[in-house]
Amino acid sequence: MFIRKHKCPNCSSILKTKKVSKIVNSKSEEAKNFDFSFPCDGYLVGDVKFIWYVFHCDVCNAEISKREMKELESAQ
Ligand SMILES: [Zn+2]
Repeated sequence: MFIRKHKCPNCSSILKTKKVSKIVNSKSEEAKNFDFSFPCDGYLVGDVKFIWYVFHCDVCNAEISKREMKELESAQ
């Protein structure tokens, strides 16, 4: 499979992907940034663990979300 290399917007190094996870409570303020609806289980309530991937630069320690990366690359 062809995997496109993504470059750091700060130092142009090749970015690595990094797995991040976070426990978010469905009643908390930040819950609106996460998708609590799952097709099989209905709506999740309480503490839910979200796992996603971000791009990470080992050189300058930058962390770029996939959404940010899309915006950066479409701006080029
Ligand atoms: Zn960098």
